[in-house]
Amino acid sequence: MRNSRRNFLQQLAVSAAAMPFLTFEQQAYTPVPHNRQGRVLRVALMGLGGYATRVAEAMQSCKRAKITGLISGTPAKIKEWQAKYNIPEKNCYNYETFDQVKDNPDIDAVYVITPNGLHHDQVIRIARAGKHVICEKPMAINAREGQEMVDACREAGVKLLVGYRMHFEPNTLEVIRMRSAGEFGKIMFFQGLSGFKIGDPTQWRLDKTLAGGGAMMDIGIYSINGSRYMVGEDPIWVTAQETKTDEVKFKAGVDETIQFQLGFPGGAVASCLSTYNMNYLDRFFMTGEKGFVEMQPSTGYGPIKGRTHQGALAQPHVMHQTLQMDGMAEIILDDSQPVVPVDGLEGLKDLKIIDAIYAACATGQRQKLSL
Ligand code: NAD
Repeated sequence: MRNSRRNFLQQLAVSAAAMPFLTFEQQAYTPVPHNRQGRVLRVALMGLGGYATRVAEAMQSCKRAKITGLISGTPAKIKEWQAKYNIPEKNCYNYETFDQVKDNPDIDAVYVITPNGLHHDQVIRIARAGKHVICEKPMAINAREGQEMVDACREAGVKLLVGYRMHFEPNTLEVIRMRSAGEFGKIMFFQGLSGFKIGDPTQWRLDKTLAGGGAMMDIGIYSINGSRYMVGEDPIWVTAQETKTDEVKFKAGVDETIQFQLGFPGGAVASCLSTYNMNYLDRFFMTGEKGFVEMQPSTGYGPIKGRTHQGALAQPHVMHQTLQMDGMAEIILDDSQPVVPVDGLEGLKDLKIIDAIYAACATGQRQKLSL
């Protein structure tokens, strides 16, 4: 404990010594020193599917977060995960019983990793049970639902965080540092390409009720969110165009491919593609008056690769979910502020943009945004 305090104070002293040489914007983006030795966040995972499996494995390397509970509708999965992660029976729940986490002192937070259409009700139930909530992206299937989740968490006095793992990724943070230090100059243009060719037509990702939409909800959201943290502003308008090549696989309300454009208050524009029908699309490009950055892969599980006008991005790769969960423990337990927010309001902004993109596709009209 004493060591961690000494390290913390030393880091603070270094940052303070450097302050006089930093611009205001650089100071605003100076990351808070990590506190990786404080209390551990005890997390119950809800929905033991593909992504939860990855999160659970990554959490084995966390210093500030650990799995202490499980929520699943499949008893056999609970048994298997209990054995693997040493979880006692009293910390296991199903979708009917999970409100009882209220009385469980071993659980500080629940991480919701279920299909998008279920997030709203599940997050509100957890908030009412008095536990902090981490919710996967997209936080919900529209802004109305997202607002209700934000309100419920505020009323319950719990924190709501969204699984934006890129906000903790070192190469991404380096680009954000460079941009906020003015190294790219005035930002002029961002391009985000997010997509893959989706397989099994019967999966929940192609079911409007469970997915809330199509590629935009699942993968296009990376270009939406990325445009905001790369440019460093929230967009003020959006236009969008949809194309569909397969009406059987991509039913009404399930978007296959959407191109969209965003305008930012500082004058930058973004041009983005979201698709479930093309592979090898995981790329960001941004140019300013003094420099550029290109990243590919830009939001996959990594290593994230890229270069700027100054050379290759060379931050070390650590599993994103390990960094995310340690970072989220610091936010929940220490009230630390991340460089880019990961709270419910951040999730809500992306939902407002998605709502506007769908409205732009339907009407052919540019939509104003006020985030
Ligand atoms: P998945 O299908 O692999 O897992 C979903 C889990 O939810 C399964 O265990 C399933 O049994 C359970 N579930 C509970 N109720 C269900 C119902 N009514 N219908 C279907 N399944 C139900 O999906 P996934 O890939 O793990 O995605 C889960 C969430 O995580 C989604 O919101 C997705 O967007 C998000 N995700 C995020 C990332 C990321 O990098 N941040 C990556 C993948 C998925």
